[in-house]
Amino acid sequence: MKVWLNGKLVEKKNAKVTVFDHGLLYGDGVFEGIRAYSGKLFQAQAHIDRLFDSARAIRLAIPYTKQELIDAIGETLRANGRKDAYIRLLVTRGEGTLGLNPFKCPNPNTFIIVDDIALYPREMYDSGMAVIIAKTIRTSARMLTPAAKTMNYLNNIVAKIEAVDAGVAEAIMLNEQGNLAECTGDNLFVVKDAQVVTPPTSAGILPGITRKVVLDLARKLQIPLVEKDFGPDLLYEADECFLTGTAAEIISVTKVDGQVIGDGEVGPVTRRLTDAFRELIGPQQEG
Ligand code: PMP
Repeated sequence: MKVWLNGKLVEKKNAKVTVFDHGLLYGDGVFEGIRAYSGKLFQAQAHIDRLFDSARAIRLAIPYTKQELIDAIGETLRANGRKDAYIRLLVTRGEGTLGLNPFKCPNPNTFIIVDDIALYPREMYDSGMAVIIAKTIRTSARMLTPAAKTMNYLNNIVAKIEAVDAGVAEAIMLNEQGNLAECTGDNLFVVKDAQVVTPPTSAGILPGITRKVVLDLARKLQIPLVEKDFGPDLLYEADECFLTGTAAEIISVTKVDGQVIGDGEVGPVTRRLTDAFRELIGPQQEG
């Protein structure tokens, strides 16, 4: 496997950064997860735009242009002979001194990994998944904007541990107000009385790119939808629930906190949106 590291393609075993990188010392950096389907990047511009927005939020100057990074992803895919892949693009703060000051790190490290990803087992896509509502809440916008996709994921990791402890694959996180925000690595949707409902970006979520694609598909299919704040009650009473994300794509949730959602099967609205999504990404995609 070849990894793109600061402008060069290097073998995986040589793809290394220093232990003095603030990305490692403090989780100081930003990243994106992007998919390539049949040799085409999915929503590349949206991902690159979000990367630069995330970097701006933490005052990190990315040492490449947006086009240079898109070209670098293409180069890395070709070097690995990949048409379908999950692409991880990161910009860390780079090497610095011990101590938080990011401005003592003059050279960010930029790297691109192309690989596969399988967040959830295939059968969960057919039968739906069980989740819990975590006690750990999502990072508040007053702490660090959740709209920035930074390398500091510990808050979500602690919620993910709650899920693993409960024997389920995912955890839904509430925001400070007690409303539903999103999952540890996916956005959240419910369907109630044939209407698609999802928390607004003001609920303190990552503005997911798959979320936006799904909202656009729902509009195109003339499925009623609303972005609004809601608490756990609406989830427990929902007819359907599903999650969206670059890695997960669309996955149905059929149980929350041990309680069955709807009739406990992948619902018709989830199916319609999943079919439309699959049509969009093409027939050759896997997991
Ligand atoms: N929320 C969080 C916290 C995430 O990490 C992700 C995955 N990047 C998402 C939502 C889904 O976003 P996207 O559709 O852009 O992958």
